Amino acid sequence: MLTQSPYILYSDGNGNIFEDTSLYVTGRTGWEAIPVAEDEWIELPQGGQLYELPGRRGIGIDVKTGEMRLCEKGWAVAAFIPPAHTGFYLAAYETAPDAPTLPLFCYTAAGWLNEKFYVPCIRIEQDIRQDCEGYDESVVESGVQKALEIYPHNRLVQHLANNCALTYKCPAARNYFLGRWECPIPSSPACNANCVGCISFQPEDETIVSTQDRLTFKPSAEEIVEYTVPHLETAPYPIVSFGQGCEGEPLLMWQTIRESIIEMRKHTPKGSININTNGSKPDAVRELCKVGLDSIRVSLNSVRKHIYEPYYCPNNYTFEDIIESLRVVNGFGGWTSINYFVFPGMTDSVEEYEALRKVIKDTGLKMIQWRNFNIDPDWYLGKINVTDTGEFLGVKQLLELIQEEFPHLKYGYFNPPIERIKGNYEIDFAHH
Ligand code: SF4
Repeated sequence: MLTQSPYILYSDGNGNIFEDTSLYVTGRTGWEAIPVAEDEWIELPQGGQLYELPGRRGIGIDVKTGEMRLCEKGWAVAAFIPPAHTGFYLAAYETAPDAPTLPLFCYTAAGWLNEKFYVPCIRIEQDIRQDCEGYDESVVESGVQKALEIYPHNRLVQHLANNCALTYKCPAARNYFLGRWECPIPSSPACNANCVGCISFQPEDETIVSTQDRLTFKPSAEEIVEYTVPHLETAPYPIVSFGQGCEGEPLLMWQTIRESIIEMRKHTPKGSININTNGSKPDAVRELCKVGLDSIRVSLNSVRKHIYEPYYCPNNYTFEDIIESLRVVNGFGGWTSINYFVFPGMTDSVEEYEALRKVIKDTGLKMIQWRNFNIDPDWYLGKINVTDTGEFLGVKQLLELIQEEFPHLKYGYFNPPIERIKGNYEIDFAHH
């Protein structure tokens, strides 16, 4: 634990970052800048990156007077913390009226002390599947070549190779070509939601761009089964997952997915078949459970209807439908997770906490994946018309309170393999 707060960081606008030792760094929660306790900081984990935030001045605490004031020396700085880590506070800054909207990344607070960068976060997931040190690009490339030779006519393998693994550097696609763990199955070019921060489609009139392009074709069940069955058969801790960042909503393709699951299970009982989804179609989910879906992960920015719907802008479904999808899978004894976009000040607000307790009880939820929300904080709160985020607990305290009340509930960042779902959950990933 640190014995003092780290100092604020600033950039010269040319990618060079400096510390200002006249100011301690603060953290943002909702619309507020607050001091961050010493025990909430850890060293910036490997794979973390630092961003300069144009048109923004960092908010710090004067080391002499204790007053809060802006760092006028340069632009504010934030950290993109790597997967498997959950941030407790956003970077705190004042935004100039003409500042550009920030791209779809997370902006965690960051400071400097004793020659090191620090961030307020926790490693929430022990699974190492997306740890950056686990990827050897040359091995990924030879895995891609091999797969393209084995499946020369499979459009999905070509998409995963040329777009996902080699262009977007998608960790899931790269793990597939390394023959291990979770294998992605994008299937839907369309979506029945219009999320403000959609990572696969952004309207023309928005200044920011989506981080990947949406799939442009509907794969057949044959194309899906051709490369996923060998993965289930041979990969360690195998999972195949419908619903990826490079597509729309997989439940719009539920008939093809149903056909694929039936075919997969004809060939192999191994591994877990999972769907990452917005949960909009509980009836389709029921049909998938009937043929062997093992787990579901429903993505959401909030478990409050009046916060969820202005963000997801759903077409022909409601907040209640997504909750029903969790109940359906739980009813079949399947594994249920939420992909919870953590936004300090919103996720840990007292109102959200009470709503979350209710959803956990109502749905028999098994796991919360505490994901950092990849979005410009001002832009997000503006788009959903939130001017006051209300009383808050602190993300660290929220994690503790929920775990205390629901000791069976698992915390993480990734979909668990069947070995964790059905077996010993505490797998020692470092030595598997
Ligand atoms: S549900 Fe997914 S694909 Fe659909 S709009 Fe939202 S983020 Fe985009």
